[in-house]
Amino acid sequence: MADNKVEQSCGGNCNSCTISSCDANEQRPGESAEDYANRQLLTRRMLAMKHKIVVLSGKGGVGKSTIAVNLAVSLSLAGKKVGLLDIDIHGPSIPTMLHLEGARAQASGKSILPVEMGAMKVMSLGFLLENKDSAIIWRGPMKMGVIEQLLRDVEWGELDYLIIDSPPGTGDEPLSIVQLIGEMDGAVMVTTPQDVAAADVKKSLDFCRQLNLPVLGIVENMSGFICPECGKETAIFQGNNGETMAEEAGVPFLGKIPIDPAVGSSCDAGTPFIYHYSKTETAKRVEKIVQKILERE
Ligand code: ADP
Repeated sequence: MADNKVEQSCGGNCNSCTISSCDANEQRPGESAEDYANRQLLTRRMLAMKHKIVVLSGKGGVGKSTIAVNLAVSLSLAGKKVGLLDIDIHGPSIPTMLHLEGARAQASGKSILPVEMGAMKVMSLGFLLENKDSAIIWRGPMKMGVIEQLLRDVEWGELDYLIIDSPPGTGDEPLSIVQLIGEMDGAVMVTTPQDVAAADVKKSLDFCRQLNLPVLGIVENMSGFICPECGKETAIFQGNNGETMAEEAGVPFLGKIPIDPAVGSSCDAGTPFIYHYSKTETAKRVEKIVQKILERE
């Protein structure tokens, strides 16, 4: 898609645009007028976002959504305009983690308005489903279609950061997001210390390599336990998976986040941990990771 030069000078009006390097400038051979208009709209939406980061993990349950939520909230608290997109179609957990289970996205003309949480804009399929407990069978092309709508039809407006929480693994959803967004900052990979997680991280790293998606770094979550009384850190799981993987793959290691009961309870209660427990060592570790991401600017 567009390069940075285009991003800086895009006025959002494709019809009068003279930037020859922009892919949305011309209708492709065989492309219908409707598909072309949709592609232009998607390009405009993406150009209005300065940074796009996808949060990935090799397997489920490692804390990927938790990291995505806290990353987004922390960036928002740092004064950035942030959008958080949950593309977990089978089990969207972002609405629960932000206590937005009852929220519904509203339509505005042909667009969908994201749910606003303070200054942060949030979008999840959970906001569009009538019954969140119903099982929908999504086939590959349908997934791509719905993810495209969540990017293109949502009134994201101008954003500093779009943080995308993708389902675990290397399936249709992360593939669709990379194909639809085109050029993006890259992926934050979440893993846990155990060696069994290593094989999955390798697959995810290979996925990024095949798609030319930069890896912004690896986060090792659930890494040890810090005693709230004495501050002593104890390893719960053996292994040093995140740091070792980062070293082997030559990608940055962003940091370790301990197991903290407050992280679990704040997720369940829908109260972002980084906001409500900002004084804790765990929150400071999350902030250090956010700082490394901000330093890229
Ligand atoms: P994933 O998105 O990888 O499937 P989640 O973010 O949904 O994982 O996290 C799975 C569970 O682990 C949630 O109940 C969450 O609250 C909990 N959790 C995540 N990170 C931590 C942590 N550092 N300390 C304690 N609990 C955590």
